[in-house]
Amino acid sequence: MAKHQFQTEIGQLLHLMTHSLYSNKEIFIRELISNASDAIDRFNYLRLTDDKFKNSDWKGEINIKLDTEDNSISFIDNGIGMNKQDLMDNLGTIAKSGTKAFMENLTGDAKKDSNLIGQFGVGFYSVFMVAERVDVISKKAGEDQAYMFSTDGSGEYEVKPVIKEDNGTVIYIKLKEDEKEFLGKWHTEGIVKKYSNHIAYPIMLNYEEDETEGEGDDKVTKRVKKREQINEATALWTLAKTELKKEDYVEFYKTISHDSEEPLTYLHNKVEGANEYTTLFYIPKTAPMDMYRADYQPGVKLYVKRVFITDDEKELLPPYLRFVRGIIDSEDLPLNVSREILQENRILANIKQGAVKKILTAIKKLKNEDSQKFTEQYNKVIKEGIYIDHTNKETLLEIVRYKSSSGDKLISLDDYISRGDSEKKEIYYIVGSDEKVLRNSPLLEAYKKTSIEVLILDDEEVDSIVTPMIGSYKEWTLKDVTTIDAPDSKTEEEKEETAKEFKSLTDKIKEVLGDEVKEVKISTRLTDSPSCVLKDASDPMAGMAAMFAQMGQEMPETPLIMEVNPEHEMVKKLNTLKNDTLFETIAWILLDTAKISEGLEPKDKTAFAHRIASIAIDAI
Ligand code: ADP
Repeated sequence: MAKHQFQTEIGQLLHLMTHSLYSNKEIFIRELISNASDAIDRFNYLRLTDDKFKNSDWKGEINIKLDTEDNSISFIDNGIGMNKQDLMDNLGTIAKSGTKAFMENLTGDAKKDSNLIGQFGVGFYSVFMVAERVDVISKKAGEDQAYMFSTDGSGEYEVKPVIKEDNGTVIYIKLKEDEKEFLGKWHTEGIVKKYSNHIAYPIMLNYEEDETEGEGDDKVTKRVKKREQINEATALWTLAKTELKKEDYVEFYKTISHDSEEPLTYLHNKVEGANEYTTLFYIPKTAPMDMYRADYQPGVKLYVKRVFITDDEKELLPPYLRFVRGIIDSEDLPLNVSREILQENRILANIKQGAVKKILTAIKKLKNEDSQKFTEQYNKVIKEGIYIDHTNKETLLEIVRYKSSSGDKLISLDDYISRGDSEKKEIYYIVGSDEKVLRNSPLLEAYKKTSIEVLILDDEEVDSIVTPMIGSYKEWTLKDVTTIDAPDSKTEEEKEETAKEFKSLTDKIKEVLGDEVKEVKISTRLTDSPSCVLKDASDPMAGMAAMFAQMGQEMPETPLIMEVNPEHEMVKKLNTLKNDTLFETIAWILLDTAKISEGLEPKDKTAFAHRIASIAIDAI
């Protein structure tokens, strides 16, 4: 029989599973039951939508068989099954983006990597924590030939045709010598109850037990086969909230999300009225690893009257909520609803609208540490939401957090407003890529002097696009400090006076710097620095960052305006300087140092270095 090599990454994963992971072996049971339940969901859907499969006798069921003599445990489902290609694609290679992302995050450090697996279930492969050998015997619904996929987890697998009557899958696990505890009825039943009590299908435990009959000398002990249902088999979301405990919600979450951490929060709602539906949503503590991949796996499953329809529909929630896990179960959608219908369906659009509101409300309710955790993980996607979801913009603006000049803590816009000038109603911000540069920017000197708080937006890629289109929040206008005059106590007349006094200076500097700057002005925003540069807000290109980003292009350079501080000794002296060569040198230094303070680079670095050296020599 031909042997096949596992894809290299799977080889690594298996190695990790067999050698480094000991902490939470029992999760393989949860993973296999979750797969079996998905497979039954899929076959159930086929029966409803495809005449070929309308067999009225079929009832979805999962069997677990414990065999103490053989030292094996098997998981048997009557779901959709896999053909030869499915077996090789699904189990022999990593196709899913989530698993791919997981593999890319592996460090090679066994301890760190084990934690990573804890955070991120890797499904079927978890059996190798306990298995010496695994045979997957499967027959795909509608096909004639069944196949067996076998591996000892060491890098190779075999696939061969076998005989199997009905569609579905058997996962036969030959346990390692020291994993016998999984053959104990109570042990395994306990694990199934803990993780899978509310899987919608019955889970039957098949085991053998010694039974003693008769009395005294007639006493005989017989080995008896037993079979009993060990879960409640009611889909969790169909139960009343009052019947459910936090543990029930948490374990169900772990089953559907393959996450081993508890969720940050969950919300369960039954909606009655024009549309009837139930939603159960979870927000993971750690953002899904594929959140920033274009091929991310959506986390919400759609059911119609308890029948699974799809888990691959990205439009069930808006894309910025792609980290949410859970279930939507509608009473009103038709069972044979197709993908195309889904996308334009009014009922679904209503459900989606309601769902988003509920999820955002739950996020708003997060307190203290939980709220902080949420910000750490999801602030960036919330900003995406602000840009895209105009209906919920106000709520998203309540949720988003920003760095601020007032301290190290992230603050909300409401925090800002509570401290700001309630007559002016303005929220000031500065955008850039480097927090330190922004905090120390000369452009903020006047704000610091007058104790006006400024939001420090250092996620330039996102902030430069999203923030300008916010406009206002609760009647407060957001203002980019680089596009407005800074706060000062001078009158218009005083300003004109100064401008006049320094007119020849600013003209002369402009003459020296030529096209390097669009304009040279007297500044009101500086206290400590002699000069600063800002992008020209009146330039037609300035507000187009979003458009360029959408087209995947770099923003063309916007012209710079240079401002000089008339109260700075250096500028005052320059105003009366007679030596033209030195004037030129200083004018360039004023520009280049201002650029450096904003995280920009001098145009000619060598010339800049020479100028500094030349004045240093004079100074010594
Ligand atoms: P996941 O379940 O997270 O997708 P797994 O590694 O557990 O990842 O499984 C990989 C794929 O193998 C599944 O997506 C599914 O297509 C297939 N599969 C696993 N178990 C079964 C099963 N019992 N019946 C049918 N298909 C299965």
